Amino acid sequence: MIPPHPQTWLKTLPNGLFCEPGGFYVDPLRPVDRGVISHAHADHARPGHSHVLATRGTLALMRTRMGGRAAGAEQEMAYGERLNINGVTVSLHPAGHVLGSAQIALEYLGAKVVVSGDYKRQIDTTCAPFEPQSCDVFVTEATFGLPVFQHPMVEDEIAKLLSSVSLFPERTHVVGCYALGKCQRVIAELRRAGYEAPIYLHGAHMPVCETYRQLGVDLGDLLPATVANKAALKGAIVLAPPSAIADRWARRMEDPVVCMASGWMRIRQRAKAGGIELPLIISDHADWNDLLNTIREVGAPEVWVTHGSEEALLHALSNLQVRARALRLIGYGDEGDA
Ligand SMILES: [Zn+2]
Ligand SMILES: [Zn+2]
Repeated sequence: MIPPHPQTWLKTLPNGLFCEPGGFYVDPLRPVDRGVISHAHADHARPGHSHVLATRGTLALMRTRMGGRAAGAEQEMAYGERLNINGVTVSLHPAGHVLGSAQIALEYLGAKVVVSGDYKRQIDTTCAPFEPQSCDVFVTEATFGLPVFQHPMVEDEIAKLLSSVSLFPERTHVVGCYALGKCQRVIAELRRAGYEAPIYLHGAHMPVCETYRQLGVDLGDLLPATVANKAALKGAIVLAPPSAIADRWARRMEDPVVCMASGWMRIRQRAKAGGIELPLIISDHADWNDLLNTIREVGAPEVWVTHGSEEALLHALSNLQVRARALRLIGYGDEGDA
């Protein structure tokens, strides 16, 4: 029997990607009855669902972000575990994006689809590394789906930050980064590079770091940063949400070096326009080469692109004899949980 094409049972509806036989959505965009959630960023893990299935890390981070329950009912699933939902076998596999992040594999009547969620291939010691799953259809993001996006090694970007800190010991380095994932990764990389001093956090970053800690990620000494104690922050590294950088919170620090950790910092004009003195190209998404390498690795003859810059990727895939189409799902953001 030829398996029915996944397009016949995994459909793009206004609420998101819907697995019809399973009766559930993947990362639903609006409140639904049942959702399988790839990771806890706000655009993928929305509030108001009756029932959600996700990893332990994702559920814990959803509760932290939402300040309560992740959904009416929460169901936890470990990486690699298999669950039959009305004939659809569901399993979750590390995506390497943020703590708890998962690719969602769906097997139905002999065909296998893997929905990547957001993912990256670079080292990140705060979460499990991406595990490629061979499949018939690979559903990928394309946040940085342009050849210009080639993310440098994270170690090199952290070295830039640390050399600026030693060059300007009287100034406060304020690093803009998203609260969930990026913040903890920057801290972990600073620790890996041997930086042992306390790291100061804007209030918005505290709760998520605490959840990471509870889930076993060591982040070293973290202290609250306030404008009131700015004299104590001379020479220190302060992490704050990008919004705090934009609303000048950062500028009220003493002689600050304003930094931003983002894949978009590859675009020089973007850093300039944001008044960023020290751009750090640190991304939690696959860059152009990693998108293509991952698609090669999973060996899927067909690729669906959920969101991002899909045009160049679709073109590159047609050259590789991979069938590709854009789902153009509206509602997923570009990076982080803004
Ligand atoms: Zn994400
Ligand atoms: Zn996303």
